[in-house]
Amino acid sequence: MTSLYDPTREEISAILEGEPSYRLNQLWSGLYTHFKKPADISNLPAALRKKIDAELPESLIEVQRSTSEDGDTVKFLWHLVEGNHPIETVLMYYDDRATVCVSTQAGCAMACGFCATGQAGFNRHLSIGEIVEQVIRSAREAATKDRRIDNIVFMGMGEPLANEPNVWGAVERIHADIGISARHLTISTVGIVPGIRALTQRPLPVNLAVSLHAARDTLRDELVPINTRYPIQMLMDTCRDYLFEKRRRVTFEWALIDSVNDTDRDAHELAELCLQLSPPAHVNLIPLNPTPGWPTVGSSPGRVAAFQRLLRDLGVNATTRQNRGTEIAAACGQLAAGQPVTIEMKKTRQPR
Ligand code: SAH
Repeated sequence: MTSLYDPTREEISAILEGEPSYRLNQLWSGLYTHFKKPADISNLPAALRKKIDAELPESLIEVQRSTSEDGDTVKFLWHLVEGNHPIETVLMYYDDRATVCVSTQAGCAMACGFCATGQAGFNRHLSIGEIVEQVIRSAREAATKDRRIDNIVFMGMGEPLANEPNVWGAVERIHADIGISARHLTISTVGIVPGIRALTQRPLPVNLAVSLHAARDTLRDELVPINTRYPIQMLMDTCRDYLFEKRRRVTFEWALIDSVNDTDRDAHELAELCLQLSPPAHVNLIPLNPTPGWPTVGSSPGRVAAFQRLLRDLGVNATTRQNRGTEIAAACGQLAAGQPVTIEMKKTRQPR
């Protein structure tokens, strides 16, 4: 099925047959510049708006919207019209920018034990339109607060590089039509080597983040099971090629788990990997967020700070990710898309 944000500009023109050619610009900029629903694109004739609405509906039904106490983090729970699967999107406001964290799959097949999405399993890939729509709907919400979207991170539910063609389609749409430049787009991967290679061949230099979490294979095999297929050194070589091709710094994400991967030994091993790349990889430390299916807790704030200091002493640039939205389960690794879908929920569908 095709939804409103799946067709390209050329493809969508089919629905405008018999209309003057300027209608295409009106529709396209209504959707991608002004983030309007077709019904609200007021320079289009009413009958045409109705036709578009009927033939190309949006693909996300808003089921729930949770806002953090300070109002800076908004989590959307959607159901996909196609198949009714739940997915989530997180909109984060900062003083100087706003970032949207989008999902790329309904669920995830990577089975990282400490991640709530991984604990829940995989439903299906998202289409280009389903990914792009998360950005549009977030931008629509941000506009009500006079805010615009500056950054997109592909760090929501799912493994982006297991769905690389659609993720790339979304990147191009977001870049060309919404107008967010490649250096404001970040794809995070568990380390799917063929996916990184595919990305290396793509034309835009998006930022690459790799969820490393362990710097020796024995430990990483346990934490990130796909490591048994794409072990660390193969991953490093692939990152080096990406860096060489794109001239974009690579980031390693590291969820700090108490006594599991937060020792001095881990910091030394991690620093060695970072320094294999030139410029060295940047480390983004994420104190582990609690999830229902994982017993181990996050490292203490003191340990996080010591780990970061040690990395810096070893010549590696490391930052600690500001923890956002834990109280609404919107933080890294907490996206599980709530409760099983019920018919009741469908009735709360937002008016278009
Ligand atoms: N599948 C991709 C995209 C998800 S990004 C990837 O793994 O990169 C989500 C980030 O949050 C990843 O770095 C993931 O490893 C991390 N994460 C998962 N569970 C977490 C948890 N419980 N606490 C903190 N970070 C977590």
